[in-house]
This record gives sequence, C-alpha cells and structure tokens, in this order.
Amino acid sequence: MENVLEIQNLHVSFTTYGGIVKAVRGVHLELKKGETLAIVGESGCGKSVTSQSIIRLIPKTSGKITDGSILFKGKDLTKITEKEIRSIRGSEISMIFQDPMTALNPTLTVGDQLIEAIKQHKEVTKTEAKKRVINILNLVGISNPEERLKQYPHQFSGGMRQRIVIAMALICDPEIIIADEPTTALDVTIQAQIFELFKEIQKKTGVSIILITHDLGVVAQVADRIAVMYAGKIVETGIRKEIFYKPKHPYTKGLLSSVPRLDLEEENLVPIPGSPPDLFAPPVGCPFTARCSFAMEVCEKVYPNTYSFSANHHVCCWLQDERARSVQFSAMGQGS
Ligand code: SF4
Repeated sequence: MENVLEIQNLHVSFTTYGGIVKAVRGVHLELKKGETLAIVGESGCGKSVTSQSIIRLIPKTSGKITDGSILFKGKDLTKITEKEIRSIRGSEISMIFQDPMTALNPTLTVGDQLIEAIKQHKEVTKTEAKKRVINILNLVGISNPEERLKQYPHQFSGGMRQRIVIAMALICDPEIIIADEPTTALDVTIQAQIFELFKEIQKKTGVSIILITHDLGVVAQVADRIAVMYAGKIVETGIRKEIFYKPKHPYTKGLLSSVPRLDLEEENLVPIPGSPPDLFAPPVGCPFTARCSFAMEVCEKVYPNTYSFSANHHVCCWLQDERARSVQFSAMGQGS
C-alpha cells in the first residue's frame, strides 16, 4: 500500500514560563492509503501534538516545529505557507475532536454549518452544496436528513452530534482524517456505533485515518496498525496482532497488562509504576528507564536502536540487542 503521509524526525517544542518543553522528539511515522493507524500512549506523551502538527494546529504563540518534515502529496507541510495549509486543512486533511459540542457552532443550523464548510474549499452552488450535505448525512446514518439539516446542534443527542462532526470532516472528501479521542465524551454503546461507522466510511471512501487514543479497547476494535508513543517518541509500531499478541517493548507490555480482560478468569491488573520523565530536560537514554524492571546500564546512557521483527513491527529497546543483554548478564554474574 502506498504512503499518503510520511512524518520524518519530527520535533515540536513549547516555550513556557518554566522553560522549553520538548513534547515531540524525533517521530518517524507513515500512514498508508485506506488504513487506520492508532497512536496510543499515556496523557502528555505527545500523540495529540504530533497529530495537530500535521495541519499546524499547535498554538502559534508557544509551539514550534523545530525540526523534521511532514510529507503529503509531494509537499512538506512544515514548509508551506499559512494560506496553503489553510486550503489543505478541512478539505484534504480534516480533524475530528473529542467534544462534538465545542466543534459545532450552537447558533447555526447543522445544514448551514455543513454548507459553509463546503463553500470554504469548493466552488459550488447552494443547491449542489445542499445535495452533498444530504448525501453525507445519509452516509453517517442520520435519518430524514432533509429535515434534520434545519435543526441546531442542541437538538441532537451526543452520539448524533458526533456523527455530524464526522460528516463535517468528510464533507470535502478528504484523503486523511485525524480523529483525536473521538468517542471519549460518549457512552460505550454509542462508541461502538461510531467505530462501526468509521469502518463503513473507510470501506466506501478509502479514507486513511489517524486515531489518537489512550484506550486500548478502542484500538483493538478498529486499528490496522498501532504506534506506541512514550515521552515524545515512538517506541514500538506494528500491526494490531503484533502489538496485542507479540508486544516487545516493556512499556507496550505494561499498557496491555493494565487493561481489564474479560477472557481471563482471574483479573490481575498491573499498573505501570512511576510517572513519565520531565520533558523540560528529557533523559538522553531510554525515557522508560526509571519505570522499567528490565533496565540495564546502557539504557540510561544511550537511546536504543530500532530492531525489526517484520515489515511492520519495529521496537526501540536494548533488550532486543544480544550484546547489550550479554554485557548486563555477565556483569550481574560477576557481582553475585
Ligand atoms: Fe527498558 Fe532498557 Fe528497553 Fe528502555 S531500553 S524499555 S529501559 S530495557
């Protein structure tokens, strides 16, 4: 499958009163056509900042992309002008946010908002725009769209409002949708419907989706590929089966052990001890060292190389390096 987006060595920092926060530190990622890539990790790991950097939504006053490139259709999105990124944002790459109520304007009807979204990017008549709105509302499962487009956001339930936000993201036929915790504000049954809808839409339109979430249950339902992020870095990537059944990184294993499982008779949830490192002064070595029960001397001093297990499964951890392991074990042997 061809790549629709390639992020290379992305670094993003924020200037604060306390100093410079290095939120994203050398992220490499690619998104393939028609796939759902989930970026997972604890709060503050840099997953939302990475996705917002793609369409330059990080706050201009404090945030800055300090290095790297984001390639889309032969253009580096970090280098193009504000006008060019505005024409891509919402039309070729669109975003779905967590809370549908803040994403919609409460003073305009749903129809007017959707028509406005089309007119911002395409030269169409009002009749053509209205026809497109009705088609999209049908696609996202809103019944009787001709009537419902005359209603205001508060006249819809939470799940229906999120469907309208999805319709808004789809209205200009984008190649990529970035969905940042799109169902966190919804109850579990509505969550399942929304993810079913994502799958249907992807089948019909071939759109690629970047899903940002901390919820591994959601990931298990929809992701084709998963990138695990920790302290501003991608520490493991793989297809869903590789990450869920053959995780290699101790952090990925920790995340999976802290999720409740119905298939086990005795549930034994194991939290990951400690907290992520200070990103004002991130560690030079593996950022997981202080929380990792397998940490070796080398981990603290040098950032691990990337080790590959298949075309998609890659991990950054010294445990996969035979030499690093043997040095550690021989040192332990001498000491005992
Ligand atoms: Fe643990 Fe070392 Fe691997 Fe980091 S590199 S996850 S500290 S074993």
